[in-house]
Amino acid sequence: MSKRIEEFKEIAHCGGQVSIHVETRKDGQRTVQFGVRSSRPIPSAWFAIYALPEGIPIATVALGGIGLQTDPPPTLTYFLVLIGSDSHGLYGHQCMKCNGYWRSKSAPSRWLLTCPYCGFRTETQEFLTPGQRRYVDACCKFFRDAINSAKDGEHIIDMDAVADSVEKDGVKPKFYYTEETQQNKFECQACGVYNDILGRYGYCSNCGTHNGVFELEHDMKIIQKRITESGDYEACVKDAVSSFDSFARQVAKQLVVRVPMTPSRQKEWSKKLFHNLKPCGDSLQKVFDINIFKGLKDKDIRFACLMFFRRHVYEHNGGEADDKYIKESGDNSVRPKQMLHETTESAHKITRLITTMGRNLHDGFHQIFPPEEAALKSILKGVRA
Ligand SMILES: [Zn+2]
Ligand SMILES: [Zn+2]
Repeated sequence: MSKRIEEFKEIAHCGGQVSIHVETRKDGQRTVQFGVRSSRPIPSAWFAIYALPEGIPIATVALGGIGLQTDPPPTLTYFLVLIGSDSHGLYGHQCMKCNGYWRSKSAPSRWLLTCPYCGFRTETQEFLTPGQRRYVDACCKFFRDAINSAKDGEHIIDMDAVADSVEKDGVKPKFYYTEETQQNKFECQACGVYNDILGRYGYCSNCGTHNGVFELEHDMKIIQKRITESGDYEACVKDAVSSFDSFARQVAKQLVVRVPMTPSRQKEWSKKLFHNLKPCGDSLQKVFDINIFKGLKDKDIRFACLMFFRRHVYEHNGGEADDKYIKESGDNSVRPKQMLHETTESAHKITRLITTMGRNLHDGFHQIFPPEEAALKSILKGVRA
């Protein structure tokens, strides 16, 4: 199925039964235990939060193990609310800062969750969607009624029946919420967690690593294949430089959003174009201490700069050199109006240099905004989120 058909599709809740077991002990004290059972043969996952009885989420809970039978909360002053994934096994999240919505397989309790769009990082329960918040509110009311009913035993919220009633009668019970597919579904190459975000670029919400460099590397692999197979070297150079430009602009925008700076500097960096590579690279180094030329020889930097000027000629001038190109690039090997040409070597070389510069940019950016160390370590140790 094409990626576009899968965009913005409503995805049902995974179903299952959420329960509260109320018991009166011999000494008259009442105890409660919260649990969940999955019943449908579809992907399902649950994470748990503590909420005040009034329905206010206060913390994300580290669950004990499979089966989700967790210890009851120490007092009745807060409830444990289990929040189900959609039927793809993904949780919906919404950022309170930028309002962005996304889905992921992660709802960590041991480290912070990151918004893919603005980089805001906070505890998982702060990223609940409006639908999940209504559900938490409804669960808390249900639990309050169960405790107040004086009747011992199990009280169940049947999420399968909730979904069925929507399907049959179109009535949306207060427990009901669904998620929505987005546009770029990617497995983070740093931590392995699956994300589904709007647009192409963003942070992995589990570990906070930006996906831009991985998108760039993916583009370079496709372009390298085209160089070998099609021989359309000029188009390949143009697309390789464009790919770097898109990634670098994304990073520049994130720097503007996340690094405090003066309005004039904000204006400059939010409009930054990477056509003229050398001054852009130099200001990244001077202003943010990000050295995109790290490890490159001077002659390679000169070559990369030339290819960035040539991209402009291929993109806007039909491939014909003009006075502006010759003056700015210092390329005296061609005359005005002469068609520029690339070779398999020059095309391959620029993709390799762009990959190196992209990695330098990624590393420099994450030195300013490091990913969640605990999330990266968890893959090595197999720790649950
Ligand atoms: Zn955000
Ligand atoms: Zn990640």
